[in-house]
Amino acid sequence: MSENKKTEKIVGIKGMNDVLPADAPLWELFENTVQTVLKSYGFQQIRTPIVEATALFSRGLGAVTDIVEKEMYSFTDSLNGDQLTLRPESTAGVVRAALEHNLTYDGPKRLWYAGPMFRHERPQRGRYRQFQQVGAEAIGFAGPDIDAELIMLCQRLWDDLGLQDVRLELNSIGNAEERSRHRADLIAYFEAHAAMLDADAQRRLHSNPLRILDTKNPAMQELVNAAPKLLDYLQAESLAHFEGVQAILRHNNVPFSINPRLVRGMDYYNRTVFEWVTDQLGSQGTVCGGGRYDPLVEMFGGKPTPACGFAIGVERILELMKASGERFAVNQCDVYVVHQSEPAQLQASVAAERLRDAGLDVVLHCAAAGGAGSFKAQMKRADASGAAFAVIIGEDEVAKGMVSVKPLRAAAGAESGAAGVQSSVLLEDLASYMVDQIVGGDEHDHGDHVHYRH
Ligand code: ATP
Ligand code: MG
Repeated sequence: MSENKKTEKIVGIKGMNDVLPADAPLWELFENTVQTVLKSYGFQQIRTPIVEATALFSRGLGAVTDIVEKEMYSFTDSLNGDQLTLRPESTAGVVRAALEHNLTYDGPKRLWYAGPMFRHERPQRGRYRQFQQVGAEAIGFAGPDIDAELIMLCQRLWDDLGLQDVRLELNSIGNAEERSRHRADLIAYFEAHAAMLDADAQRRLHSNPLRILDTKNPAMQELVNAAPKLLDYLQAESLAHFEGVQAILRHNNVPFSINPRLVRGMDYYNRTVFEWVTDQLGSQGTVCGGGRYDPLVEMFGGKPTPACGFAIGVERILELMKASGERFAVNQCDVYVVHQSEPAQLQASVAAERLRDAGLDVVLHCAAAGGAGSFKAQMKRADASGAAFAVIIGEDEVAKGMVSVKPLRAAAGAESGAAGVQSSVLLEDLASYMVDQIVGGDEHDHGDHVHYRH
């Protein structure tokens, strides 16, 4: 390498974002909330690889879907020639894993996953090339009860996150036979109006006409609104299932609207399909999509096994959380330890460890390139950390085996009687003193620094 060559800056990949520390607490809050909700319905986590065989998706999702047609990151493993794909979604991988490990041998399973998905789309607000989904897959359940349960789980999550304005759209796309009768009429209808079809629709007319109903082109809205409705083709069994889902939702006061044009992107869906949508995110308004996919397990070579699931687009939910006007107070730690002189530094490391032994979150001031910095500079750091208290150790303190404790926040000072007044504590009493100050007699969980304020 030439030494004169200017070092070029290497930047991240377009459409693949960094989550910076300022946003991390929001992610954590979302992740903790969704895990708590999933657990409260008995769902168990499954983690599958980010890379799968390309055939899993081309076979599972259907060849004429947006994802398989143009959005997959597929590549040949140059070391062994395997055809691989970065997962664009997780249902296929979870079903593969469930089959491979015979997870449903002793009955149906409620599973959930979280992780990054990859789709080569045009990046824009709410649409990225690497994005995060949290999803649930209920495998082996046949009735409308689980469909409704999945939906109510989502409703509980929005409520717990304080999100309003997320509404449920529901539809049934029946079974293969009902869809095929509808399909014939749909093609005939669109052929009769061929002049009004856009290029996308013309391309899909004979391959996947149902997807034309999902068009986002405003010029085609009238045409698709008047198209034959799949709901009108459902027969007794499919109708009863759909009715069953609705009855449970009504009994639990979950509002919904039926959208006869709602179809889902992947081929494996049947019967119940649903989306949670909001008007707040422009054209990227779907925050969660789901439905039943009874044919998929068999398509992957398993015994016929009914199943149902959903996937949440986490970035879109976080946008809603940010927009909801809630405020997030983020503390890096409970206590920030500052020190002057070398013996004080040694003592400070001992003090910090004792506080951590007691379960507190502690930042010990450490030297930067210019050294540890003046007392004033260190106190500035302590304040910026959001800590409730600074523990101060100078030469005097070391000599006496004491440390000074200074409340940094009005609230913390109030608990000890006087805002900002420094007290002296024996080093050996420090941990219990600080725990008293911070945890007090109440139930406050000092380990949780994110407070979701209404
Ligand atoms: P869209 O119609 O917005 O393209 P989709 O039908 O392709 O969505 P699904 O495959 O059902 O989306 O994925 C479930 C959820 O994941 C979506 O509702 C959305 O919230 C989120 N999602 C999908 N694609 C992206 C993306 N490229 N970037 C960010 N979030 C996404
Ligand atoms: Mg899409």
